[in-house]
Amino acid sequence: MYISISKASNILKSGGIVAIPTETVYGLAGNALDEIVIAKIFAAKERPFFDPLIVHIAEFEELENLVAEIPKNAKLLAEKFWPGPLTLVLPKKKIVPDLTTGGLQTVAVRMPKKQIAKDIIKQAGFPLAAPSANMFQHLSPTTAEHVMEQLGGKIDGIVDGGTCEVGIESTVIGFENEIPVIYRPGAITGEMIEDIGYKVRSIEAGHPSPGLLDKHYSPSTLLCLGLPDEVPHNSGLLAFGKLPANSERFAKILNLSESGDSTEAAANLYAALHKLDSFRLGRIFAMRLPETGLGNAINDRLSRAGK
Ligand code: AMP
Ligand code: MG
Repeated sequence: MYISISKASNILKSGGIVAIPTETVYGLAGNALDEIVIAKIFAAKERPFFDPLIVHIAEFEELENLVAEIPKNAKLLAEKFWPGPLTLVLPKKKIVPDLTTGGLQTVAVRMPKKQIAKDIIKQAGFPLAAPSANMFQHLSPTTAEHVMEQLGGKIDGIVDGGTCEVGIESTVIGFENEIPVIYRPGAITGEMIEDIGYKVRSIEAGHPSPGLLDKHYSPSTLLCLGLPDEVPHNSGLLAFGKLPANSERFAKILNLSESGDSTEAAANLYAALHKLDSFRLGRIFAMRLPETGLGNAINDRLSRAGK
């Protein structure tokens, strides 16, 4: 099941699907331009067809083959944040199958930073669709073992690249009259984009970013965002920073970052949720992070995990 980079590229070339590490989370990769392969990805994840996939490239030039138009601001953001955890939504060319984009006329594209991911894309010779390598709505994988638990046996192999450095999904950005609009908060924050002189808008309710479902990223154990006044028996705590006064009442505590660092917290988020999920707790309470740095993206995941 665990395979080398060159074996993975060969499997991809013959129309298979393999899990690969990226700096955000592990992706379930397949040829983004082959409808049959894309159908296999949706089937393995049991993901609904309306939820579009992100297409991964290794060189900027590959973007021109996929999209009909590159707005000036998209190019500038790509120059600044690629390779890295930023996904750009742009008008698609015909070559990108409708199945890849959930029927939308736009395609989401990203250039990952992790060398293993780039090597696999280059060796395969085509862009890779790579949604997170987990069952639909479940916890995203940040280690090869997480992938094995959820998808082992349903896919053609897993490339083990250790723990994902960033640990939280990419920021998805579209453009409305050249203005960047955040469709999904992620590892590149609104402040980081504003710091380089852009105005950004956050997504408004009803905007067509189909993957922003209420329930997503969920452990099997019931998860509540925020702290209870009375801690129920057999509860777990996903903490951040200083522990609350009633912390000794929790059966298990995992702290995402004792020093209150949201970047460290993002890197630990999914592994901590996988771990708490394995303790057969009655409930998990998650402390809400301050909305600075990656706090916003983490709170977004935790609120969906709790639905
Ligand atoms: P992931 O599940 O991490 O692969 O991310 C896919 C998510 O990116 C989708 O669920 C959407 O929220 C977003 N996305 C992908 N393609 C598009 C698109 N064409 N337009 C708007 N949002 C998109
Ligand atoms: Mg996902």
